[in-house]
Amino acid sequence: MIKLKTHEEVVSLRKGGRILARILDELSLLVAPGVSTEELNDEALEKIERAGAEPVLLGYHPEFAPRPYPAAICTSINDVVVHGIPNEPSVVLQEGDVVGIDLSIGYEGMIVDSARTVPVGLVNPEVQKLINITKEALAVGIKAAKAGGHVGDIGAAIESFVRPHHYGIVEELCGHGVGYAVHEEPMVQNVGTRGTGPELEPGLVLAIEPMLTLGDYNVTFDKKDGYTVRTKDGSVSAHFEHTIVITENGPEILTASR
Ligand code: MG
Repeated sequence: MIKLKTHEEVVSLRKGGRILARILDELSLLVAPGVSTEELNDEALEKIERAGAEPVLLGYHPEFAPRPYPAAICTSINDVVVHGIPNEPSVVLQEGDVVGIDLSIGYEGMIVDSARTVPVGLVNPEVQKLINITKEALAVGIKAAKAGGHVGDIGAAIESFVRPHHYGIVEELCGHGVGYAVHEEPMVQNVGTRGTGPELEPGLVLAIEPMLTLGDYNVTFDKKDGYTVRTKDGSVSAHFEHTIVITENGPEILTASR
């Protein structure tokens, strides 16, 4: 069931979103060759606690996984699309890598979710372009999230923007409702048809998160750790995510950097 958020709940989401954006800004600045994913996770935990927020991913147990998630952030390097675990094992970032940092926090009882892919030092121009287009695809998806429209409008907008670039659009994973829990209904796919799916109503809070690859769209799920999702063909992928709320005046990005 889809539950719309109240004005007061959106106020809390907005506060949490600002904290989350600031933490992601700070973590992104730490990304450099020689830094380990465990250091990023430790820094994230410290920053979350200092802000009076909750690390809601730590101990979160999604239905698909065999065990609770063991860290505060996901760090997804190169062919890892999402859900890379920073401390199992910790990986030292190398010049030319890309690392997706995905973080959800709770604040005043409300949950926000955001992610971005950060280049480690100088990356191949082809990879930098993938990062730029994925970020732009998120902006295009958000712009399509207008009150009175439908959830399918978001995926349709992302898909038609990305197709001319011939990137893989990962379809086995998607965005989602968020706010009371880490994942809520509805699913927000990155492909789709305009005018389909649930209606976009004011108070609907969504995490929109395109995941694109330099190759094919097929992915594999790591059976050993229960979480890591990789591209099947080993191609590099990028991931950007914001939490937004639908308003009468258009989508408001709750996790935007300021
Ligand atoms: Mg998400």
